Amino acid sequence: INADSGAPTIIDKIVSKEIPSTIVYEDDKVLAFKDINPQAPVHVLVIPKCRDGLTQLGKAEQRHGEILGQLLYAARMVAEKEGILDGFRVVINNGPSACQSVYHLHLHVLGGRQMKWPPG
Ligand code: 5GP
Repeated sequence: INADSGAPTIIDKIVSKEIPSTIVYEDDKVLAFKDINPQAPVHVLVIPKCRDGLTQLGKAEQRHGEILGQLLYAARMVAEKEGILDGFRVVINNGPSACQSVYHLHLHVLGGRQMKWPPG
């Protein structure tokens, strides 16, 4: 399992469109695209286009408040576009013990099936 090295990640190449992705929502600050290995019928990743130190949520500072809010709002837009506004889950894996594998903050938006709790 990866740790936070601060190195560039695959998400830079997705933002630059060097690596193709299926985009669900985009504005000037935020991009949302389908996860390549979906864990539910709807599985979308929501990211800040500019990482700006946010390798993981645990690195968030007060100055990140605006983008953090924009990411949650984008998650809601994704849920609406994907037709799961009535029931969806937003997940952020933070660090190795939470199985974070890509160190560019991303929200998982999951839905389209009955979600279990606790998730395990
Ligand atoms: P994490 O485990 O860090 O919370 O989530 C990383 C997510 O990125 C995983 O769900 C994985 O499937 C997804 N992912 C990794 N590489 C790619 C890629 O090249 N394209 C897309 N669309 N998703 C990716």
